[in-house]
Amino acid sequence: MTDLQPESVAVSAGRPHGAGDPVNPAIVLAAPFRNAGDVNGYARNEGNPTVAAFEAAVGALEGGTALAFASGMAAIAAVAEGRPSGGIAVVPSVAYSGTVAIYAEQQRLGRLEVRSVDIADTGAVLAALDGADLRWLETRTNPLLSVPDLPALTAAAKDRGALVGVDATFTPPPLAGLLDRGADLVMHSVTKYLGGHSDVLGGVLVARDDDLVARLRTRRTLTGGIASPFDAYLALRGVRTLSVRLERAQANAQHLAEKLAADPRVARVRYPGLADDPGHERAARQYRGFGAIVSFEPVGGRAAAEAVCDRVELITHGTSLGGVESLIERRARHAGDRASGVPEGLLRLSVGIEHVDDLWADLDAALG
Ligand SMILES: *Cc1c(COP(=O)(O)O)cnc(C)c1O
Repeated sequence: MTDLQPESVAVSAGRPHGAGDPVNPAIVLAAPFRNAGDVNGYARNEGNPTVAAFEAAVGALEGGTALAFASGMAAIAAVAEGRPSGGIAVVPSVAYSGTVAIYAEQQRLGRLEVRSVDIADTGAVLAALDGADLRWLETRTNPLLSVPDLPALTAAAKDRGALVGVDATFTPPPLAGLLDRGADLVMHSVTKYLGGHSDVLGGVLVARDDDLVARLRTRRTLTGGIASPFDAYLALRGVRTLSVRLERAQANAQHLAEKLAADPRVARVRYPGLADDPGHERAARQYRGFGAIVSFEPVGGRAAAEAVCDRVELITHGTSLGGVESLIERRARHAGDRASGVPEGLLRLSVGIEHVDDLWADLDAALG
């Protein structure tokens, strides 16, 4: 069947098709493969059947050719380090810390000119685009959860001939569909929603242009950043349940955001699903859902936020996001977030798929 909905693609893509085949792809543990004519198979170069099955599924979901990497950072590095020397990259000033660090390093090494701009400020981005050949974006700023005007930024960057790459980790399929809307390249940290169980590190790049895919594949071959077969198997198993996990997590996030917003113990809630959130209208226009990350500041700042992290029982105090289990952390613990002005008392909550009443009871008790 063609033209399946993403929920069906997530379940069906990348399965073996032959009579008598197993329903799931096997975990193929081999570095070299027997020569077949001219193909001198080696897993770092030509890939591996288990990795290919995962790539087929993510490629089908995003509508392009997917390349699986050993981590999200390996995927980000393949783009950043593969830019021609002397290029100009426009990157978000508040972005994933590793992204900020890797572009800063490219600048320090004298390879790239890097312009950091607040991607929620469309005017600032447009002003920075002159002469740029790479525009890197994220679908949400993290952890402030502003919603950039992706269609406007993408169109402006394309007009100027810049390559547009988007880190869509916070908005996994089917929320964003960015290749259909002008992005050249979509990246996900598979560690987060695609894997979904906090048990695997992975990254993926998806693109449509054959030359771009070939260049990125070459970077992966040269730097050895390909995903392992075990990790690809786990990640594909995660993708099978992506849409139901996301549905539940988003419904939980919406409910918790509303409860928190109405609570006098909470000074501020940031979640684009709230009707009065500054990013609500943009997010409603651009995405098929509001995601499952909620940031909030308890009254009482840093001390109150730390108390919440100490007291939660069902919710885990830890970094990362996108797993079945809810995770919370005070982001200003990280020097990078402090430097970029994240409020001391801001908690980022990655909402999982537990029962929402239990999650609220845990937060309610932790808020004291
Ligand atoms: C976690 C994360 C990354 C990095 O991915 P790893 O798999 O940890 O290397 C990149 N971007 C975003 C938005 C992330 O949340």
